[in-house]
Amino acid sequence: MKDRQALSFEVFPPKPEMDADLSGIGETISDLKTAAPDFISVTYGAGGNNRPRALDIAAVILSNGMNPLSHLTAVGYTSDDASRVLDSLEDLGVKNILALRGDIPKGQGMDEGAWKNYSRASGLVRYVSELGQFCVGGAAYPEGHQQSVSRAADMEFMREKEEAGASFFITQLFFDNDAFLSFRDDASAAVKSPIIAGIMPVFRARQIKRIVEISGCRVPEKLSSLLDLYLDDDASMQEAGIDYAARQISALWREGVNGIHIYTMNKSKGVLEILRRCGLRGRGSL
Ligand code: FAD
Repeated sequence: MKDRQALSFEVFPPKPEMDADLSGIGETISDLKTAAPDFISVTYGAGGNNRPRALDIAAVILSNGMNPLSHLTAVGYTSDDASRVLDSLEDLGVKNILALRGDIPKGQGMDEGAWKNYSRASGLVRYVSELGQFCVGGAAYPEGHQQSVSRAADMEFMREKEEAGASFFITQLFFDNDAFLSFRDDASAAVKSPIIAGIMPVFRARQIKRIVEISGCRVPEKLSSLLDLYLDDDASMQEAGIDYAARQISALWREGVNGIHIYTMNKSKGVLEILRRCGLRGRGSL
């Protein structure tokens, strides 16, 4: 990212009943390889049940000759727990970690012990970066986090994470490029590290409506009318969603973003079509 714009993907560990032997996600990963991504990130369940599978998926990414970025969440962990996971990741050959706080488990408050050693992501960022083995990144929120009190406070959280050792940020999804660009202007006054724009393509209207509710991101009028129009028509929504994401990514790329990170939802075909329309590949993009 020091030299050029990056292209990356996020995948998640599929439920064991959907893909017991990980052959489905293995196929997704080898499809995604054709876009020559700079890295592929693997989410980590704050609930804990998919953790071993997240490590297995990082191994699949490595065995495909690509660079995994393993997410690691702090909630529910002591630093000894984190240390054991980090040892396993290092043994696998993982060199990059996205250090996150994780969401508060349902029914618990910030002071109920779930946070153990880390009540903010910056604590975990510091712990991982002080090990000296990993390149560490953090999360950023162009339209604020559900717990945000102000833009100024959010900038302070980012500054704290950078000071603790985060050398890049990946944003939450957003559909409104102006929201991202105004956030980038403010953030570049607070931090020096590259900020990668997180883009979630719309493949199914109902799924995105749920995600929007949780994340609180703004849906521009143009997209919101498509979501309503194609609420029960997945094929048309997928076509319109691919078009929307391709336009969104192309415009951001022209704005000189440090990188584009696509939340693939493990759907490689749609993602590859988006990139074809943008004329984009990683590792030396157009
Ligand atoms: P922090 O940096 O500690 O806080 C994030 C923001 O929350 C701050 O910027 C601030 O605005 C606000 N905030 C938090 N605490 C306070 C407070 N006390 N007072 C005021 N404001 C506050 N979750 C998973 O479980 N697994 C994953 O794999 C995963 N991957 C993610 C990847 C990306 C790119 C992003 C953006 C999020 C991801 N998340 C994941 C979700 C994340 O764990 C949650 O959003 C969590 O609530 C905050 O984590 P953080 O690391 O951003 O925390």
